[in-house]
Amino acid sequence: MNHAEIELTTPVQFLKGVGPKRAEALRAVGVETVEDLLLYLPRRYVDRSHLTPINRLQVNSPATILAKVVGVGEERGRRPRLVVVLEDGTGFIECVWFQGYKYIKGLLQKGQRVMVSGQVRFFGRLQMPHPEFEVLEGEEEELIHTGRIIPIYPSTAGLKAIRLNNRSLRSLIKGVLDSLPQIEEILPEEVIQKHSLLSRQEAIGNLHFPTSWELVKRAKERLAFEEFFLWELVMAMRQRERIKEDGLQFKRPGSLVGSFIEGLPFSLTSAQRRVLREIYRDVSSGSPMHRLLQGDVGSGKTIVALICLLWAVENGYQAALMAPTEILAEQHYHTLGRLLGPIDLETTLLVSGLPKSQREKTLRAIGEGIIKVVIGTHALIEEGVEFANLGLAVIDEQHKFGVVQRASLRGKGSSPHLLVMTATPIPRSLALTVYGDLDISLLDELPPGRREVKTGWRSEKDRGKVYSFLRQKIKEGRQAYVICPLVEESEKLDLKAATQMAEHLGKEVFPEFKVELLHGRMKGEVKEEIMGRFRRGEIDILVSTTVVEVGADVPNAAIILVEHAERFGLSQLHQMRGRVGRGEHQSYCILLVSYPLTSEAKERIETICRTNDGFRIAEADLRLRGPGEFMGTKQHGLPQFKVADLASNGPLLRMARQEAFALASKDQPLADSLRRVFASRFQEGGKLLGAG
Ligand code: ADP
Ligand code: MG
Repeated sequence: MNHAEIELTTPVQFLKGVGPKRAEALRAVGVETVEDLLLYLPRRYVDRSHLTPINRLQVNSPATILAKVVGVGEERGRRPRLVVVLEDGTGFIECVWFQGYKYIKGLLQKGQRVMVSGQVRFFGRLQMPHPEFEVLEGEEEELIHTGRIIPIYPSTAGLKAIRLNNRSLRSLIKGVLDSLPQIEEILPEEVIQKHSLLSRQEAIGNLHFPTSWELVKRAKERLAFEEFFLWELVMAMRQRERIKEDGLQFKRPGSLVGSFIEGLPFSLTSAQRRVLREIYRDVSSGSPMHRLLQGDVGSGKTIVALICLLWAVENGYQAALMAPTEILAEQHYHTLGRLLGPIDLETTLLVSGLPKSQREKTLRAIGEGIIKVVIGTHALIEEGVEFANLGLAVIDEQHKFGVVQRASLRGKGSSPHLLVMTATPIPRSLALTVYGDLDISLLDELPPGRREVKTGWRSEKDRGKVYSFLRQKIKEGRQAYVICPLVEESEKLDLKAATQMAEHLGKEVFPEFKVELLHGRMKGEVKEEIMGRFRRGEIDILVSTTVVEVGADVPNAAIILVEHAERFGLSQLHQMRGRVGRGEHQSYCILLVSYPLTSEAKERIETICRTNDGFRIAEADLRLRGPGEFMGTKQHGLPQFKVADLASNGPLLRMARQEAFALASKDQPLADSLRRVFASRFQEGGKLLGAG
């Protein structure tokens, strides 16, 4: 197949053999242009490069043979079939087709030399049912379906429906490769040299028609590197844009911050001090800070954030802290109030659903700069919220927000500093990708005196024992969470289950204790009131949906019982477990599971029981669910990689990142070929080039 004048940017529907239906099916798998087609990643490869003489064939094993067609015949009867007899000088074999054979019959003729691959069977004589085959026209003919390492592409119902099977995909891609003049290199020559990468041409060729396994590996490596490089270039350019911005310059911490730290009931951990130093470097640098603070659950991120808020105030600015749930925003608000003690500071809580008059009054005070610190939910980024001079924006549990929300909070000021925090320990490769333009600080130390949470799983038959254990702990003075799943698809049913559970526990199981229900559908003030009572120890058992998943901090709560633990993801389980183990008491996390367990669920449960280390858990989660799911369905800013795999290509990512940042730091215009791919590959690429 030959195509006149095609380029990488040519839409696939302009290719010969691709009609509207095929184009549509290809688009559904992300293939719109010739370049997309060439980067369509084979799912796997099979080795058909070794030829076996017919007399050496092993029955019930796959084999590839080179032979001559000596007979072609249709057999009618109960199961009509096409039988093609082959001979190679050592013996005979029959290739048999039961389906689609009219078409195949037209392709095969006596006297042709063919290469066939398939499973060898024996039914009275040697047979190969439905083999892959290729007719060898002349000596020079390049094989694409057999006789070599063959690509097998991901097959979808859409592709199948229009018969874009492996065979036709291979032919299509081969045709394109043959008619493209040359695939231009986009990576800088010295980068290719330094890392011994294949050229783009070699890599794409070998991705589909490799001449060795080694080349399969190197082709994928080169293309993954390229993807990472392009993405990291976006990150690097974003960062450079930002550095050019004028930032607010904070002075060294003064008396407000000083007296706040002195008043704390504990001293800061050395990790907290180190992170504050890292932040100081940013906020005094003259460029806006964009820092991600990563720290496992319970590592004490909140204090760091609160200190930063006061720091901004001390420098004459307002500061804002945004949290994903009302419960969490309220908790931070109360914590700040409590820790401020006698320090006099105008703070406010801004959540949705405030009475109109109160909201207006609050917004006015924020707008006039009377209120210094605003803590709230996404209500903070709503229209109408205007700050007099926002100097610092902090986002807690940032993974619950999208890139856009992050930007909108920052947009409430003019180049304010930004600190985002996350307790979902994101594997480093993911962090570099999603937060690649942020600087990263790590709180890698838990406050002293923490004891590891004991985690175990139990099934329905153990329920009685689990309840006795709970009773004993509550008698000792502890409090407990009981978490019921709430999944969107069956929200009503689940809510009912949680409600019933609270009633059942309160009336029948633990009549002597105070049991309350908390869920996300409750009104803000109701939730606040219940959380307040739980915090003050007036509730013994809090039955809750996953609204307490993030952030809740009640140190006396030492037991968390998770119902249907098999329905939760790993990171979610880890977050929930993080609700306990926050004080000096030995804490327990009990996972109740219902059989049957899928093997993945079993692996999740075993992993969470085995380790308390959030980073290990995150790595496992990434492996089990893949990056998209891991980051959640929210708009998470994760690019779609075609070849690169975040779970396994970590080192490659770091190399690519280094090179991309090095290139960006030269501040020179990009080479034309790179420019084109850069602008088309990621939406933001184009914008950055336009702006730069
Ligand atoms: P997370 O990092 O999960 O947001 P928090 O900020 O909620 O953790 O802190 C967890 C608990 O540890 C809180 O009760 C907090 O008061 C306490 N804490 C924070 N820093 C210290 C410290 N340096 N020493 C002792 N306790 C601390
Ligand atoms: Mg927190």
